Parts: sequence; structure tokens; C-alpha cells
Amino acid sequence: MCGGGGADYAGDGDLYGGLLTLATHPILDNHMHLNPAGRCLDAVREFVHAGGTHLVLVSLPPWSLGIEINTPDDYRQVFDKVLRIAKRAEEAEKVKVFVILGVHPAELTKYYGRLGLERSIEIMKGGLEIARQYVVEGKAIGLKSGRPHYEVEPKIWDASNDIMRCGFEHARDAGCAIQIHTESATVEGISEIAGIARSVRLAPEKVVKHFSPPKVTLCEQHGIFPSVLASEKAIETALSEGTRFMMETDYIDDIERPGSVLGPKTIPRRTKQLIEKWGEDVFWKIHKENPEKVYGVKIDL
Ligand SMILES: [Zn+2]
Repeated sequence: MCGGGGADYAGDGDLYGGLLTLATHPILDNHMHLNPAGRCLDAVREFVHAGGTHLVLVSLPPWSLGIEINTPDDYRQVFDKVLRIAKRAEEAEKVKVFVILGVHPAELTKYYGRLGLERSIEIMKGGLEIARQYVVEGKAIGLKSGRPHYEVEPKIWDASNDIMRCGFEHARDAGCAIQIHTESATVEGISEIAGIARSVRLAPEKVVKHFSPPKVTLCEQHGIFPSVLASEKAIETALSEGTRFMMETDYIDDIERPGSVLGPKTIPRRTKQLIEKWGEDVFWKIHKENPEKVYGVKIDL
């Protein structure tokens, strides 16, 4: 529980101390969620004790946190909650947490019946604007937006593109990156998204394709930065194309769906295992140089 104090973990320093000293290499999970109603700090502890050093904490859809959105300002509750979780994680464990805030494409499908399409678009764009303020204030390192990965009516598709474009504009204005949740990567889709970014003068290099398949070359051709889901084999496939990618689990921290995603230990374990075969240099690039360049942050141990 994120609400818990540090006392619960007081004994673990000794228990895991030996393992922690092995952390000489930065290991970053580029897309993770934490929920006070889920495993939360326990999941962070698992990540850290497996060798993880940095994580990118992405805001959950409001309903996952029990928050109902009726106005843009309601997103502040969501964002503040994510920031509190990040702070508690850093207090509890030796880990650096970077926060990404924004809206989830599924929100539109969820809201428009209740609030009407126009108002829903306005609210989600307002949420992105507030997220940008948090970035400008230094509380978050980037934004999140996207478009549905499933088929929707044309008007929802157009509205989703409109919201995503608005997110790109905010990212450009804040000078930050934006993670996008979209349909699976095809040549057409990736090239179209890069085109939307360019149309608002956002460098496609600042657009991070979350839940990406290991299509490193395709993304590079269009400038989009892939965040590859670290499932079995995917990372080796990605490495066979190059090192221009980051790694993520999309750990959703939902105790009702424990097996539906990769667990918090995945990235550290996969990295350590693959270092044997691929060497440390490629993972230095993936876990340090790439995120430093994309987000403009420092990845230090
Ligand atoms: Zn996610």
C-alpha cells in the first residue's frame, strides 16, 4: 500500500543489502503504473530488489484511482495522487521515479455518453494543459496521450487524433516528450503519427510509442521513439535491429488482473540475463543514454 509508512520495510535493508550493492548499472522501466489499491510500494520494492534503479511512473486512467472526471480541474486529483505515490516510492526505496502525466485514449469512449463528445474533448484537452503545467513546474518529465488501439466510430477516431495533436502541441510548448498509447505499430500508423507531430512542429523523436513491438528500424525511419514491451524474445528481436529503444513492462498494478501484464521484476531480470550475451554497452545506451536524450533527464546511480 502506498499509504503505508516506511516502518514495514525497516528490516529489508539487511536482508536485501547484498543484492542492492550489485546495482552498478542503471536499469529503467519506461512505463509502469502504481495504484494505492494495488501492490504499489511492494511492486517498487520488487523492482528495486531485482536490480531496477529508475522507473517512469505513468498516470493511470482516473477511474482506476476512483476519481470521476467532470471538469479539467478534476485531473489535478489524479496527477497529485501520482506525484504522492512517486514521492513515497522514492522515500521507501533506493529508486528514482520520473512522472508522466496525461490522459488515456479510452477516457473518450468512457465519457462521451455521459458528457457529450464536445465537452469530453474539451475536458481531456484541459487535462493535457494541466499536465503541461506540472511539467513546466518540474513535477513531471513528460505527457501522455494517444488514440484507441481498438476500432471506434469515425467521430471518436477523429476526436482522438484531435486530442493527441493537442497533446503534441503541449509537449512542444513545454519542450518535453510525450508517451503515446496507440493502435499497434504499422508503417502507415507510425508514419501518420510522425506526420501529425511534424505538423505542429514537435520533433517525432519526442514521441515515445508506448507498448511498442520491437520495430526499432521502422520507428527510427520515422523518428518515433519506441518503448518496447519487454516480453519474451521481444528485446532480443529489438537488439537485432539496434539500440534506439527503451524497455517497459506496462505493469498495471491491478490485483484483480495479476497475470495480465509483465511483473515489476521483468526489466531488471531480462537486462541482467541479456547482458551476458549482448554486453553492457547496449544496455547503457537503452537504460541511460536513450532516456537522458528523450526526456532531458539525468540517469545517475
Ligand atoms: Zn500503461
